[in-house]
Amino acid sequence: MIPDIESLDIAHLASGDTLAIQVYKFQGATSGKKAYLQANLHGAELSGNAVIYQLIQFLCDLDSSQLQGEIWLVPTCNPLATNQRSHHYASGRYNPYTGIDWNRIFWDYETERQSPDQISLAEFAHAQVNQTSQQLETHFSQLLNDCFQENVKTETKASGLPFEERYRYRLQSLCLDANYVLDLHSSTNQSIDYLYCFQGREHSAKYFLLNTAILLDTYDGDAFDEAFLKPWLSLETELAKLGRPLQFEREAWTLELGSGMQINPDSVYRGVRGIKNYLVSKGMLDLNRFPLIQTASRTVQFFPKSKAQKYYAKQGGMLQSRVLLGTWVTSGQLLYQLLVFNRDRELPQLVDIHTEDSGLVYDLSSNASVNQGEYILEILTHPQ
Ligand SMILES: [Zn+2]
Repeated sequence: MIPDIESLDIAHLASGDTLAIQVYKFQGATSGKKAYLQANLHGAELSGNAVIYQLIQFLCDLDSSQLQGEIWLVPTCNPLATNQRSHHYASGRYNPYTGIDWNRIFWDYETERQSPDQISLAEFAHAQVNQTSQQLETHFSQLLNDCFQENVKTETKASGLPFEERYRYRLQSLCLDANYVLDLHSSTNQSIDYLYCFQGREHSAKYFLLNTAILLDTYDGDAFDEAFLKPWLSLETELAKLGRPLQFEREAWTLELGSGMQINPDSVYRGVRGIKNYLVSKGMLDLNRFPLIQTASRTVQFFPKSKAQKYYAKQGGMLQSRVLLGTWVTSGQLLYQLLVFNRDRELPQLVDIHTEDSGLVYDLSSNASVNQGEYILEILTHPQ
């Protein structure tokens, strides 16, 4: 297959340069569902670019008869963030102009209702409850699209739009009609490979063949995956209240592939394998040996997001003897030591910090030097 390659301008700069993103569009021989993948929304999170590169190579070698529907891929989807540096470090998690997290900017139908005649999801569900599931899906898709286009129009006004809003409309316009949205991240620090899973979509998590998932038992809708899926989940909830339980073929996943500022080959391998396996399991790709035999027996350990526990430095110092990434710790176990200096004419001290709760150490700060209150590590607790 040869992809259509489309370049999409996202910002004209003071220097006269134009920032753009590039979309690789693979169209199968038969029509069907749409999958949208992007990588590097946060500037330091690089592994997804290597995953997308391998997927592009792989799809180029396939015959179009092996793809039903279409797959769109966008590597380096946030050039401003990717190119941002502080000394040798890529610090592109926040827009330096506004301080806002690049993954907390997205348009959500429910929270950003602009016109008073935009109906609520409860009203929509009530009006459409007796339609077929196909009609419901078509009508709701149309509603979302109409509302989205109304918002996009505002960028032509003389008053303009803040950069983040223009940018989010560019990205979201690419996936609004998708069935599956895969946003490829890594930790800003050091992390294991895992994914974020929405409640009600747990059954599909195993297709990615990762061991660990954070279950989004709480979210507000402004992250990329949330903004895409939240309206559909909310509609499902409203329909269920009216005695019409159903699930739309819409899913969103954020894959977290290893550590920031690095491309770890194991993380890339797992990302590529999992995405192929997912797309085959969803009936979009037809590949030999897929879905992989281990899919059926794969158990994913789910941890509620609300129970993840961050540890912050209780005083300033230098970290040492910290537990390794991926360690299962029990309550009261030594987590790390803090080498603490002072200006009180006292000897330096070594302070032991123990765990409050048992769980999986899944993310570590990269910097061993911490001021009081700075992040040290995070533990996933309460496996389900
Ligand atoms: Zn990220």
